[in-house]
Amino acid sequence: MDSLTYFKSWQNFYKQELKEKLWKDKYIIDKLEPLKKAIEKSRQAFIENESFAFCAKCAQSGEKCCQTGLEWKLRPSEFLINLMLADYLQTEIKFNLERPEDCLFLGEKGCNLILAPIFCRNFFCDKLSNFLGHERLTKIQQAMEDEAILSFELAEYINKKYVLPYAEKIRKEKSR
Ligand code: SF4
Ligand code: SF4
Repeated sequence: MDSLTYFKSWQNFYKQELKEKLWKDKYIIDKLEPLKKAIEKSRQAFIENESFAFCAKCAQSGEKCCQTGLEWKLRPSEFLINLMLADYLQTEIKFNLERPEDCLFLGEKGCNLILAPIFCRNFFCDKLSNFLGHERLTKIQQAMEDEAILSFELAEYINKKYVLPYAEKIRKEKSR
C-alpha cells in the first residue's frame, strides 16, 4: 500500500468511527491543550535559536531533507493526535500531492504536521548541529522535553486503546 492510501484510510477511519470516541475520552482531552502549548514552546525555541531560518535557507538552496518515505516515520497514533489537534485548532493536515520526491507531509512552508514524528523532531544534521553549537542545541532539546513526554504518553494511550484493537479487527476480518 502506498503512503497516501495508508494515511487516507486512517483519516477516513478517524472521521467515520473514531472521532466521536476520541473526543469523549477525558484522558485525551485533558492532554490536548498542554500538548499544544508544549509544541508551541518547542517551536519558539527553534525560532529563537535560528534553527528554522537556517533550515529554510538550506531547503531553498535545493537540499532535500524531507524526502519521500519519511512519512512512514509517523505512527498511526501520532497521526490521530495530529487530526485531533487540527480539529482543535480548526485547521487541517494537508498531504503533498504534487511533489512525489518529497515527504507526504511536506508543504510549501515546511512540515504540514502539527506534531512531527519523533525521528524528525530529533533530527539535527551535522550542518545544523555545527551551526547551532552545543549551547543552542541543548536549549532546543530542553525546550522539546515537555512535547516529547506528553506526545509519548498520549500516543501510547491511543495506540493501546484505539489503534491496536482496530488493527486486530482488520486482521481477523482478513483471515475470515
Ligand atoms: S536538517 Fe540539515 S539538511 Fe535538513 S534542512 Fe536543516 S540544515 Fe538542511
Ligand atoms: S518533518 Fe514533516 S515533512 Fe519533514 S520528513 Fe518529517 S514528517 Fe515529513
